[in-house]
Amino acid sequence: MVDPIIQHDDRYFWDGIAVHRLLIQRCVACHTLRHPPAPMCGVCGSLEWDAQESSGRGRVLTWILSRHPNAPDENARVVVLVELDEGVRVVSNLVDVPNDDPYAEYDDMAVAVDYRERDGVLLPVFHPVGKL
Ligand SMILES: [Zn+2]
Repeated sequence: MVDPIIQHDDRYFWDGIAVHRLLIQRCVACHTLRHPPAPMCGVCGSLEWDAQESSGRGRVLTWILSRHPNAPDENARVVVLVELDEGVRVVSNLVDVPNDDPYAEYDDMAVAVDYRERDGVLLPVFHPVGKL
């Protein structure tokens, strides 16, 4: 796996992950949330921002089963686009689900964030909540 490249605009995000907090960038001027991090608000153009902690809960909008073409993981990964309850979207991995079921269906699944170490890097992942 490739380590995340941490830059000025997303350092707060990885600092939050390190203490198991999912932080979302928020415009100070108009309070619009945005992710992935960016230096300027796309709504009002403000350069001022802070961060809000997400509930970590959301729903799977779409997903793929990812298999590396020439360096396969031990298991395929379920890569998901999650819409958080706060309305922003995050790309992540879905864990604690079968990853070898060709008939799996994860659309609209209720999920919650968790934090897992992979190759020495702590990453935000999502797991199902409630009934599968
Ligand atoms: Zn704004």
